[in-house]
Amino acid sequence: MSASPARRLRWAEIIAVGTELLAPPRLDTNSLVITRRLNDLGIEIRAKTIVGDRADDLRSAVRGAMARTELVVLCGGLGPTDDDLTRDVVADVTSRAMSEDPGIVDEIRRRFEARGARMPERNRRQALVPDGAVVLPNAAGTAPGLWIEHEGSILVLLPGPPAELTPMLESVVEGRLASLAGDERLHRRVLRVCGRTESETDEAVAPVYSQWLHEDPPVETTILSSPGQVELDLTLRSASAARASARLEAAVGALTAILGADVYSTDGRTIEEIVGGLLRARGWRIGVAESCTGGLVSARLTEVPGSSDYVGLNVVCYSNEAKAAHLGVDRALLAAHGAVSEPVALAMADGIRALAGADIGLGVTGIAGPSGGSASKPAGTVVIAATTARDRLVRTFRFPTGRARVRLFSVQLALDLARRLLTGQAPGGAFVYSPSAGRG
Ligand code: ATP
Repeated sequence: MSASPARRLRWAEIIAVGTELLAPPRLDTNSLVITRRLNDLGIEIRAKTIVGDRADDLRSAVRGAMARTELVVLCGGLGPTDDDLTRDVVADVTSRAMSEDPGIVDEIRRRFEARGARMPERNRRQALVPDGAVVLPNAAGTAPGLWIEHEGSILVLLPGPPAELTPMLESVVEGRLASLAGDERLHRRVLRVCGRTESETDEAVAPVYSQWLHEDPPVETTILSSPGQVELDLTLRSASAARASARLEAAVGALTAILGADVYSTDGRTIEEIVGGLLRARGWRIGVAESCTGGLVSARLTEVPGSSDYVGLNVVCYSNEAKAAHLGVDRALLAAHGAVSEPVALAMADGIRALAGADIGLGVTGIAGPSGGSASKPAGTVVIAATTARDRLVRTFRFPTGRARVRLFSVQLALDLARRLLTGQAPGGAFVYSPSAGRG
């Protein structure tokens, strides 16, 4: 059976090929790019596999994927070297002979000559095409891709380097795959929440979103948590973009009605983009004084293009002496309450606001750990303050331990505190610890 235009592709598997992808330094990012583009077409990913450069392993991965699903996208292993096996293995699994395509050889030779180099003989391997395969031109490199239809399955072979894969994927998605995918598309909305744990969020919204699974078409909800943030992903399959958009908008409204001001984004924006947007709308500038986060809040704020509109001067003041000398934190305050305390966090926020000539100041001080904690202030205790000339917010948090995690939580909650001050919402919820309740 071969693919016909009437066929509707719904499921796919991805196989990323390359021994280097099995070692820590190299991440398989191609499969994320492929997943996103296939999802756009309404094609869902059933499984992803990473396989090293071993013919037997690759052969069984390809056979397994073909048995389970109708579309198998492979990436990597199309290069000229002996460990580039994808083309040979797929030709073997589909029992096809390969022959050299002179047009591809010419194209590869031309690429080398354009750089003043001679084409090595081994690059001829990249011109081998299995019988019946369609060649996918590679505008950015030497390895062409391949499209093969075999016994009801479609195999798409793409090169490994992301700069080569992306344009080729784009042309396959817009061309051959779009015509096979039917009219339905996956439509998505993302709600981002700060101030509740994953289980608190789920407890609040599960009674509502679980009902949506019984609708036709169902709205599927996935909950994902990362330090200081919970994300609710809503997905709907529909042939009508307008109907999907209206249904998702209603779903977002229903969840926001439950979660209130803890929802900080419903349009995909990050917390730093939201804070940046609020600052820009007011024509305000922010100043950040960081201790335990060592500049991470500042880094996140300035990840947003155009952030120089509202960021001028931020500082990292790690020692007590630096807090006193640069932010004007009263030494008596430091001595009386300790560096990790609400009075000091407030003084840091006020200090940077004055120093930077900013409208809002943010102070972050805490114990990232693993050492440095005490019985009353264990590792993971972080105090964050946000102040303006008129308003002040300060909260003491007890974050789950682990130095990197404490710092990530702190960044997220610091940006969220700025958001809350800018929008007049009082924070509460997850990880907030009242220092007056039983603390020395
Ligand atoms: P080439 O002609 O460049 O050899 P190829 O198709 O053989 O192309 P590979 O040799 O498998 O590709 O990979 C080349 C490089 O592409 C890798 O070193 C890696 O940097 C990147 N790469 C490969 N696979 C992936 C992946 N799944 N995700 C991200 N990067 C990848």
